[in-house]
Amino acid sequence: MARKPRPDRAEVCIIGAGASGATAAKVLTEAGVRVVALERGPWRRRESFGGDELANINRYNLWPDPLLNPRTARTSAAEPAREELFCPVPQMVGGGTVHWQGWLPRFTPNDFRLRTIAGPLEGASLADWPIGYDELEPYYDRVEWAFGVSGLAGANRFEGPRSRGYPCPPMPMSRYAENFHRGCAALGWNSFPTPQAALSRPFGGRPATVVSAFAQQHGDPTGTRSSALNVFVPQAAATGRYDLRPDCYVRELVLDAEGRLRSAVYEDADGDLVEQEADLFLLACGAVESARLLLLSRSGRFPAGLANGSDLVGRNVTFHEYSAAIGLFDDPVYAWAGGGYVSASSFQFYEHDERRGFVSGGHVAAAGVGIPLPINWRLPGAPAWGAEAKRVDREAFNHSMAVAMVLHDMPQHDNRVDLDDGMVDAWGLPVARITLTPHRNDLDQGRFLIDRSAEILEAGGARSVTKVYAERVTGNCSHQHGTARMGDDPAASVLNRWCQAHEVDNLFVIDGSSFPTGTGANPTLTIMANAWRVCDHILANRGRFARAGLAASGASR
Ligand SMILES: Cc1cc2nc3c(=O)[nH]c(=O)nc-3n(C[C@H](O)[C@H](O)[C@H](O)COP(=O)(O)OP(=O)(O)OC[C@H]3O[C@@H](n4cnc5c(N)ncnc54)[C@H](O)[C@@H]3O)c2cc1C
Repeated sequence: MARKPRPDRAEVCIIGAGASGATAAKVLTEAGVRVVALERGPWRRRESFGGDELANINRYNLWPDPLLNPRTARTSAAEPAREELFCPVPQMVGGGTVHWQGWLPRFTPNDFRLRTIAGPLEGASLADWPIGYDELEPYYDRVEWAFGVSGLAGANRFEGPRSRGYPCPPMPMSRYAENFHRGCAALGWNSFPTPQAALSRPFGGRPATVVSAFAQQHGDPTGTRSSALNVFVPQAAATGRYDLRPDCYVRELVLDAEGRLRSAVYEDADGDLVEQEADLFLLACGAVESARLLLLSRSGRFPAGLANGSDLVGRNVTFHEYSAAIGLFDDPVYAWAGGGYVSASSFQFYEHDERRGFVSGGHVAAAGVGIPLPINWRLPGAPAWGAEAKRVDREAFNHSMAVAMVLHDMPQHDNRVDLDDGMVDAWGLPVARITLTPHRNDLDQGRFLIDRSAEILEAGGARSVTKVYAERVTGNCSHQHGTARMGDDPAASVLNRWCQAHEVDNLFVIDGSSFPTGTGANPTLTIMANAWRVCDHILANRGRFARAGLAASGASR
């Protein structure tokens, strides 16, 4: 591998240009800071997206290709790890938001103090967050208004106080959302329009979002959805201070003699090595890949991986296993319509209630069938091919809908991401290995939420309901958290309350790695709000963090 000359030293280097990296880029560049961003994937233009279901879903057009980027997984350290696409997220500018569903609920105030509320849970490493809802609330508000979210303030009666409503009213009602609301109302349960990363009307100089069935798992050829690619990346670029370098895969983070981070070493699109120096580094690769990069960055000072003196990097990882009850209705539901952008939710079983016999709960929502063509849809238990499969497709596809849960899986010390020394990726680097045993609490909570989801379908008029319980954690969801928890005690956390590494003061990890608990809600609004909070802290303390850059640039808000 050839080495290219070192580029100019940056004030801030952000690694990753997904939800958290793009949020940080927007906030810092708009405040006057010059940012270099290194993103391993391509910067795709909207013209390159379309509704080719085979390419997008079955052939890794947008998902990470497991031949190039494999991962391994096992349910305990005693087992050999098997190659598995565990919790994949698109690797390109925009990250997971390029083809996401875009459900953006807030966490509730109790999410930040579950250990206090529920007490200890044997086998789990429950911890309160070092920050509370009140500290994050102004940043929820900023993201909702800057990013563009459609929703109905006050409709979720379990939500914490808000400083104001949503910038746009909810997306229009779909048939499957109607069924969901009807079922909840019949049961006396609260339900609300799912807050959505979409514009129900023109807002902030952007047109209303074009609603299409080719949404989740398909990129957005219209450029009208709220995604990092469509909103925060262009806003950062418009400042002229965002040097975003796609196709640059960071292989290692290097320390200087004083134990501060000196540089990120990356492989560029030509296959050459480049060393980018900076005053401050923000890691935003997603919780699995951020942990992997820290573990790949070994040195004499940190032989077990950067900022890993506590041996906690990669541990306590949580994912939201995805599972659902499926209902068949006499009338057509057209649950592919809107691709999940016009959905309905309930937090009725979200909060902890000790009478249930397990800790915490989760978000349930009308999930449509989403994909949107029958080629990737299958009624549970129905044959996958042949004349009978076609008959079921014809009769049931337009008449089925799902109610799905976001499982609040419990953090456990031995559930972890580490390096698999038995397998390398196409760039020769050890891949991430996930070791994950579900806690009894996860399975009990999952069964409970699927049973409630089935009741919603029945009360909503379904003629038959099939329950699909999550019997193990397969990583079939794209939510990942916890691999570098934040906390006040350096022996029990990797990051402090500002997501700054306890052991390396110019390193911040701003994705979901910092979450001490995964919660039962879709995480990305909180990931972005937290990244904005951290950047505000960096700006407020720029003189302290800078060697030559932040202070000298005269960054101001
Ligand atoms: C199909 C789908 C549906 C989803 N639906 C929802 C939803 O409804 N609601 C919700 O809240 N969330 C949803 N998500 C999850 C959401 O996309 C993620 O939570 C979010 O993108 C995480 O943000 P992040 O910044 O941590 O990481 P990402 O957005 O994944 O960004 C990380 C970036 O870092 C880059 N990177 C990684 N390693 C390196 C390296 N070594 N060098 C350089 N760059 C690197 C990656 O290529 C990537 O672009 C969904 C995801 C998918 C895929």
